[in-house]
Amino acid sequence: MTAAVCPICSKPTAPEHRPFCSRRCADVDLHRWLAGRYAVPGSEDPDEAGPIEDED
Ligand SMILES: [Zn+2]
Repeated sequence: MTAAVCPICSKPTAPEHRPFCSRRCADVDLHRWLAGRYAVPGSEDPDEAGPIEDED
């Protein structure tokens, strides 16, 4: 009933990659999580703020 979308790029999710649309976005999220886990406060990178283009 709810059209779930990828939290990384807002495309429709793929059942095999939920909650993401692709393995690529799952990897992006993982890397973001790891970056946040180990990030030093105040070291935000503005380049990471934009949407990720899925070229697949
Ligand atoms: Zn995605």
